[in-house]
Amino acid sequence: MASQISDVKAIIKRSAEEAGFDLAGIAPAADAPELKQFPEWIAAGHAGEMKYLEALDDRGDFKRASLARVAPWARSVVVCALNYNTENSYSTQVHDPTRGWISRYAWSRNDYHDAVLRRLKLVEAALRQAVLGELQATLTTRSYVDTGPIVERVFAKYAGVGWIGKNTCIINQKKGSWLFLGVILTSLELAPDVPAPDRCGTCTRCIEACPTDAILAPYQLDSNKCISYLTIEKRGSIPESLRAGMGRHIFGCDICQDVCPWNRKAPASTAPEFDPRPGLVNPALAWLAEMSAEEFRAVFRGSPVRRTKRSGLRRNAAIAMGNSGNREFLSLLDQLAADEDESVRESAHWAKTRLLTSTE
Ligand code: SF4
Ligand code: SF4
Repeated sequence: MASQISDVKAIIKRSAEEAGFDLAGIAPAADAPELKQFPEWIAAGHAGEMKYLEALDDRGDFKRASLARVAPWARSVVVCALNYNTENSYSTQVHDPTRGWISRYAWSRNDYHDAVLRRLKLVEAALRQAVLGELQATLTTRSYVDTGPIVERVFAKYAGVGWIGKNTCIINQKKGSWLFLGVILTSLELAPDVPAPDRCGTCTRCIEACPTDAILAPYQLDSNKCISYLTIEKRGSIPESLRAGMGRHIFGCDICQDVCPWNRKAPASTAPEFDPRPGLVNPALAWLAEMSAEEFRAVFRGSPVRRTKRSGLRRNAAIAMGNSGNREFLSLLDQLAADEDESVRESAHWAKTRLLTSTE
């Protein structure tokens, strides 16, 4: 039996590689110390309006705080990582005031959930096939990409995929941090990999570079201040005190990864799905702000950008124009100031005032 289990582990690793994953590892389905901080983090309000993170189990405990409680049958977690980096510049390297920034992970032509899940299902099938005899009859497996009751990066750490950086991203020594994670929970007891050691050392670049001070302390993020949260998850108006720090970010923010030394030599992905859609790398602000409902649907079909909706995209574009220092946007902002959506109107008024009063 023991030799069969170690064979299964080798089969999982091989099938992950064959499926196109860049990294794969096994973590125990145990409650790691990092998960103990989860309830405190929620209680401090750091999850903002992301209520799905607060999902409770039957006992009224946070689902994501304890895999042992929510999936007591699980013994191991297979964590697979797919590199989505491309050859394009980093946000910290482009400075055109007529253009904004969409996060690197959202440039792709395909929904990354599909790209990761399709590969994950191949690994899950290989795992199920590899298990023989009576173990097969009782085997349970579940694959998740962002949808499981699990804090993926904690298990990625214990699977040896990478360490959790001070910017809270998973970082791999060779691949960097442009990684999508997928997990397979299994009832099979597999020998775990060795957790990746923390290689942040004395570096604090991400903390210093964060324009909204969202990294409160190493490894501690307040989503309410994070541009990623503000541009994607936050509905309605964005707090005025944070708008100047948003710069020209339209959807997400890559700054704390762009400045990370471990991403200096991050390789480009070999997965064809992550070729950027036309126009999404450093997109023209005017194009985004003037996008009709039909064009929004066509451009962002299957894209994570749909999450912020067209009104969120135009709200963000208005704020970005206000931060651009480019007064040529004033007439477009006049149009947005009469928009049907309240948050777009209000952001456009703010942006006009900022452009007219800014001396930058
Ligand atoms: S994503 Fe941007 S705003 Fe959020 S912590 Fe990183 S640098 Fe700060
Ligand atoms: S920038 Fe420095 S401190 Fe931040 S995650 Fe990267 S290595 Fe760690």
